[in-house]
Amino acid sequence: MNTEIKKFAVLGHPISHSLSPQIHSLFAKQFSINLEYKKFDINKDSFLENVKRLKHEGYYGLNITLPLKYSAFQICENLSERASLCKSVNTITFEDKNIIGDSTDGRGLINDLDKKGINIKDKNIFLVGAGGAANGVIYDLILNNPKKIFLTNRTFAKAIEMKAYWQFFADKHQVNLDVIDSNFKTKFDLIINATSASLSSLEPPIPLTAFDFLNVNGSCYDMMYGIKTPFINASYKKTNSVFDGLGMLIEQAAESFKIWHQLNPKTIDIQVDLKNL
Ligand code: NDP
Repeated sequence: MNTEIKKFAVLGHPISHSLSPQIHSLFAKQFSINLEYKKFDINKDSFLENVKRLKHEGYYGLNITLPLKYSAFQICENLSERASLCKSVNTITFEDKNIIGDSTDGRGLINDLDKKGINIKDKNIFLVGAGGAANGVIYDLILNNPKKIFLTNRTFAKAIEMKAYWQFFADKHQVNLDVIDSNFKTKFDLIINATSASLSSLEPPIPLTAFDFLNVNGSCYDMMYGIKTPFINASYKKTNSVFDGLGMLIEQAAESFKIWHQLNPKTIDIQVDLKNL
């Protein structure tokens, strides 16, 4: 056992529900790494001063969750291309004088889809939502060469804005990008719910007719986890290939762990381990 204790924390609001301390501790066990991982309830106004304090206290890195990922993007001195384009940081590393920011949500989603046998190459994806989560994963969706990504959002103007923002990156990777409201014509291979609709609504964030446009072998993925959402319930009426976002949460944590420790943790049993804690 390495005796040096590396200190980490996750910052957000609310934060009591966060599973990050347990997940990182389970990863650390795999390599006999001695780490301390705390969670702090922090608001936007005191974010910068708290990051500076934790850096001063010798913390090695931080995870950042809702609603602070954009604030984290704003304060980092060095950003990965992914974090810079997504305007989102969920992983901070303190290095000498610098605060380095990266975003691992997109890779977390792709890795989880991979583990579930879902390959998005040449597929049609319907990405629902235009907030931080949707903008945080679209970079990696594009990099994995789907045929087309359809965007939609409750506030439709934000979907149009999102398309305009990502168009150059989609063009660069020869991926078609479009917005769609309720006039469905094309079949989807994967519908991703990247909204927080389940927190405030008993209806899925897309019309039920959208699910009729799911291909026979299509899948539905809700980035939310911990509850059976209206989106999940509507999905099950069309397919059994339905997933929540717990796998993504674990995979994005694994990507943060890789950044901090240069080690690739096994994620396969973590969902079971979490239930047994
Ligand atoms: P934001 O607040 O940035 O965006 C919220 C999005 O949800 C907006 O597109 C908003 O639309 C939409 N929305 C909210 N309420 C409704 C509703 N009643 N009907 C339809 N659309 C609605 O949040 P994030 O994008 O950061 O997070 C979205 C979800 O993703 C959260 O539930 C979060 O838990 C989950 N997530 C999961 C992760 C994981 O690892 N599994 C990682 C990151 C996020 P509008 O613009 O119209 O307000």
